[in-house]
Amino acid sequence: MNLDNKKPGKRPLYFYYIIAGVIIILLNILVVPAVQERSVEKTDYSTFLSNVERGNVSKAEVQDDYIYYMVRKNGKDTICKTVKMDDPNLVERLYESGASMEAVVPERQSIILSLLLSYLIPIGIFILIGRWLSKKMMNSMGNGGPGGMMSFGKSNAKVYVKSSTGIKFSDVAGEDEAKELLTEIVDYLHNPHKYADIGASMPKGALLVGPPGTGKTLLAKAVAGEAEVPFFSISGSEFVEMFVGMGAAKVRDLFKQANEKAPCIVFIDEIDTIGKKRDGAGFTGGNDEREQTLNQLLTEMDGFDGSKGVVILAATNRPDSLDPALLRPGRFDRRIPVELPDLQGREEILKVHAKKIKIADSVRFDEIAKAAAGASGAELANVVNEAALRAVRDGRKFATQADFEESIEVVIAGYQKKNRVLSNKEKLIVSYHEIGHALVAAKQTESAPVHKITIIPRTSGALGYTMQVDEKEHFLMSKEELENKIATFTGGRAAEELIFHSITTGAANDIEQATKIARAMISRYGMSEEFDMVAMESMSNQYLGGDSSLTCSFETQTLLDKRVVELVRRQHEKALKILEENIGKLHQLAQYLYEQETITGEEFMKILQEPLPAVEDASRVVVDVQG
Ligand code: ADP
Ligand code: MG
Ligand code: ZN
Repeated sequence: MNLDNKKPGKRPLYFYYIIAGVIIILLNILVVPAVQERSVEKTDYSTFLSNVERGNVSKAEVQDDYIYYMVRKNGKDTICKTVKMDDPNLVERLYESGASMEAVVPERQSIILSLLLSYLIPIGIFILIGRWLSKKMMNSMGNGGPGGMMSFGKSNAKVYVKSSTGIKFSDVAGEDEAKELLTEIVDYLHNPHKYADIGASMPKGALLVGPPGTGKTLLAKAVAGEAEVPFFSISGSEFVEMFVGMGAAKVRDLFKQANEKAPCIVFIDEIDTIGKKRDGAGFTGGNDEREQTLNQLLTEMDGFDGSKGVVILAATNRPDSLDPALLRPGRFDRRIPVELPDLQGREEILKVHAKKIKIADSVRFDEIAKAAAGASGAELANVVNEAALRAVRDGRKFATQADFEESIEVVIAGYQKKNRVLSNKEKLIVSYHEIGHALVAAKQTESAPVHKITIIPRTSGALGYTMQVDEKEHFLMSKEELENKIATFTGGRAAEELIFHSITTGAANDIEQATKIARAMISRYGMSEEFDMVAMESMSNQYLGGDSSLTCSFETQTLLDKRVVELVRRQHEKALKILEENIGKLHQLAQYLYEQETITGEEFMKILQEPLPAVEDASRVVVDVQG
């Protein structure tokens, strides 16, 4: 699409020069006579008559209401004006005095002039003021600034030159594959011959994809820090403009700058803002602006030749929403996954960030990493900072292991809610509920051991929780493991049922989680005989929680729902059975948790393994509740 006729950066300048020229001409034509008009002297009729008598009037012009006349005073002509009287002899008298009867004031001045004066001059003045103001605005913002009125459509990509970000690959922990792929690009920009000699050409673009907070932006900044070439960084949202065509103009401008500075790197963060799939609806007009911007981006990416050394990096956490045209070979043909860190990655990230704070020597990062399963890099950075804050709050000079453990809980479960007071009965129910989870987990061999159990309420709304930690991280889950997980989730509610014969709202989150797993098992993991390996659901948006859409018929949906319910129910019954068989331990542990409020995994295992003290304990607890 040719947008040249809309090039907004230039037209206004010409436009204003023309306006200024027109104004100058108008002023010459109009204002000079206007000044003359103002110099007309008003006199009364008798003065006029006496001037006529004395023969001072050289010219006179009689109009409908006024008489204009020219008087010669001290050798100077003055135009005067007087009210016209009903004087039949006037013409005669003028003739006798020797005055000639001719036009003194050109007629057009009186009418056209006043019209023009009252309209054109003010408009002209406004235009001049406007021009002056905008010029001032542009000057004060300078060249690199967001731009004034005149710089619409100029891209304001920040240019990082060597090391100005100060971030190196060593600041990015884990993500080794991503770093390797990016290192290759940096290497290419430094030694293009090495690649040219063998005939290899670099991909034009590389797309960093992964969940939020995994370090995509950080990686791009590290590339900027490592590569000794200019680095243009712009966020997709900066292309979104108020006027159609502006975003496209920005893209054009960005690539023009990049071409001039080649070899260089262009980084477009959050590219999904402009790169969304075009819907092709057309009728609604939809988002014309975004589409134009995307088209321009596609055109520009095709337009420059890769050998020049412009590499385009982009980041997104919604790769499946990108327009397929962006992903085809020749554009972003290299996809760099930036995934959530694994156990070792988490440990490294913690260490990188812990360098910035003072920590006690006893801190065990492997333990902390283990407890923070599923956390993103950004969350881990947050954990470290929380630990430091906690140390300060407690008046210590170093962050300790306990600080880290507590801050993981803060990041995962929210702050301890010190002022929420649970009644004793509530506390007891929560104790049984949490021990229910832990006991079911511990009794199923393959389930992860318990790390910590607490009944101190958190700001997230949880009244207590059981933190489970995988001893070893694994990426394949067997059907049994998933079933055990569901059983563990139902364990809390099962304990309530068993002991109190009533149920509470405390299991809402457990129910949600159990359902999610059960549903996925049947609809996506092919873990039911009935549906075999047929997908009933497809996932999109995997990095942002995931949206699923059913891909099966209505009847199958009904059946699917039924199977999910059956699966959860089976596990719920299993949990009930486990607890029934271990009811003595359930009482003992719940009682202990009730008194301690927080117990560690080791304490839990110790109590679980020691023989039951005496049977009388169990009944005592139940009496407590009713009392
Ligand atoms: P994204 O762009 O993927 O959403 P960011 O790059 O903005 O995530 O990461 C946010 C912050 O999280 C970073 O500034 C950094 O402090 C931390 N972080 C994320 N991943 C890592 C990592 N692999 N190593 C070190 N810090 C990380
Ligand atoms: Mg980012
Ligand atoms: Zn629960």
